[in-house]
Amino acid sequence: MNQCPHCHRTDQQVKNGKTVAGSQVVKCKVCNRKYVPQPLPAGHSVATRQQAIRLVLDGNSQRQAARHLGVANWLKAYADGLPPTLPGPDGPVEVAEQDELFTFIGEKKTKSTS
Ligand SMILES: [Zn+2]
Repeated sequence: MNQCPHCHRTDQQVKNGKTVAGSQVVKCKVCNRKYVPQPLPAGHSVATRQQAIRLVLDGNSQRQAARHLGVANWLKAYADGLPPTLPGPDGPVEVAEQDELFTFIGEKKTKSTS
């Protein structure tokens, strides 16, 4: 049973979606506040992060990789902190992939379709 950290009730605690890291969010219907009773200690696992990076470097867009693995926020943060040139054995290819990352960052505003 989850206990609300604000009013310390254990009843009327309902599930309310999940955080970007995949932790269960619980909403207290007594005080209407949300909390995460068991947050993941480090968010995504190292394996998941490496897989996300690999997907991007293999030619998937960052958006595709993030959607596939559910790591959108983390991957965006990683991309924002990318060095000007990615280290790697395949120079020209890495540059092409990095362009894709920057393109995604530049287009993060939702576009009107009309
Ligand atoms: Zn509460």
